[in-house]
Amino acid sequence: VPGPATPVIDVPETASPSPEPARLADLDEVRATVARLDDAVRGPGLPYYLPHDGRVGATTSVGGQELLSFSSYNYLGLAGHPRVVAAAQEAVERYGTSVSAARILSGNRPVHTALEEAIAGLLGTQDAVVLVGGHATNAGIVPHLYGPDDLVVHDALVHDSLQQGIAASGATRHAVPHGRADLVEEALRARRHRFRRVLVVTEGVFSMDGDLPDLPALVTAARRHGAHLMVDEAHSVGVLGTHGGGICEELGVDPGDVDLLMGTLSKSLSSCGGYLAGHRSLVQHLRYTLSALVFSAGLTPANTAASLAAIQVMRDEPERLARLRGNAEHFLAGARARGMDVGPAVGVPVVPVIVGESQAAVAVARGLAAHGVSANPIVFPAVPDDQSRLRFFLTSEHTHDQLDRALDVTARCLREAGVPLATAPVETA
Ligand code: PMP
Repeated sequence: VPGPATPVIDVPETASPSPEPARLADLDEVRATVARLDDAVRGPGLPYYLPHDGRVGATTSVGGQELLSFSSYNYLGLAGHPRVVAAAQEAVERYGTSVSAARILSGNRPVHTALEEAIAGLLGTQDAVVLVGGHATNAGIVPHLYGPDDLVVHDALVHDSLQQGIAASGATRHAVPHGRADLVEEALRARRHRFRRVLVVTEGVFSMDGDLPDLPALVTAARRHGAHLMVDEAHSVGVLGTHGGGICEELGVDPGDVDLLMGTLSKSLSSCGGYLAGHRSLVQHLRYTLSALVFSAGLTPANTAASLAAIQVMRDEPERLARLRGNAEHFLAGARARGMDVGPAVGVPVVPVIVGESQAAVAVARGLAAHGVSANPIVFPAVPDDQSRLRFFLTSEHTHDQLDRALDVTARCLREAGVPLATAPVETA
C-alpha cells in the first residue's frame, strides 16, 4: 500500500490560552444564540420559522390566521398548479421518492435529461446540468473552477451562497459597490494581469434591492479584460424576458456571451434545486467533475418533474408572466405614491421597503402580520444595519386590490413605528 504523498508531521501540542468547552453544544456562540432566542420568546416572539399551514401563493394561513402573502418566491403561482402537482405525483409513482444514488452512477433518470434540455432551451444555452440545491450549486461551483491564484470581482450584494463559494475557493475577493459596472471595469483594468483566472459575478435580479445589473457593460468589461462572467439568475428566470428566459432575454444579451448562467429551481420553477447552464463542453466537464454533483444523490424525481412541468406551464400560459410584471409595476408605483423608500427598485417582483434599524424592521413586520400581511424583515448582517427593510415578493396571483390593501397597511405600520414617509410622492427614477 503506497504511503501518504506528504509525510505526516507530528505537530507538537501547545497549550491553548483559553480552552474551549469540550462539547459543541456548549460553545459560546451556541449559548449566545440560545440566550437571544429565549429573550425573544419571553417577549413578543420572532417572525421566523412560522409554520404556514398549506400552500403559499397570494395568500397563506399561519396557525389558522389568513394573511396576504409577500414572503414566498412562488412568482408565477406554479408551486400548487394542478399540472405541476400531477407531474410530481406521476414521477413518484414511476421512479419512487428517491433516485438513491448519484446520477453518474445509478441515479440518472430520463426526467433529469428532459429538465436539463428544457432549461437550456429556456435560457438559450447549449446545455445545462441540475443539482440538488441552489445554495449548494453556488457554494460548489466557484471553488471548483477558481483557487488561490485567481481573482473574483463581484457586486457587493451577491447572495450568501456565492460569497461562501468565493471564500471557499481561496481566490482574492474584490467586492464592488452595488450596481457599479464601471468599477468592475476599473478593477479588471488594475488587477487582471496579476491573476491566473478572473471571474466577474453578478445576479440577474438582486434579491435585496430588486434591481438589475448593467449586464451589457459587464459582458464588454469581461471580454475586454479576459475575465469570465457568471450570472446568478435565481430571481430573474421565470420573471424577466417575454418568455421568462431571464436577464439575457430581457436586455437582449446573447446568452453565449455569459460563461455561466446559474439559477435555482426553488423560485418560479416551483421546486427545489439548482442548475448551471452554458457551453456544451463546460457543462459536460461539470457532469464528470463537479463534486457537488458527482458525490451527491441526484435530484428527486418529484422535484425534477415539477420544474419540468413548471417550464411547460410557463410556456403555455404566458399571461402569468405579464400579470407578474404588471403587479410589480403597480406595487412599486403604489409604494412610491405613499412616500415609501424603495431604494433602487425598478419594478420587478422583489420590492424592498427600507425601514432603517433592524429592530424597527422587525417591529413593522410584526405590525403587518397583526394586520393580516406577511412580509419578511431583512436585517443585519444580510443588509447594512441602517438599511434594514421589509422585502415584498409579488406573484402573478395577487390582485391589484390585494396589493393596494397591503400598501395601505404598510404605510400605517411604518407611521406607527415612527419611520418617516416622504410627503410628496417619490418620483420614479
Ligand atoms: N442565489 C440567490 C440569488 C438566492 O436568492 C438564493 C436563495 N434565495 C440562492 C441562490 C439559493 O437558492 P436555493 O434557495 O434554491 O438553495
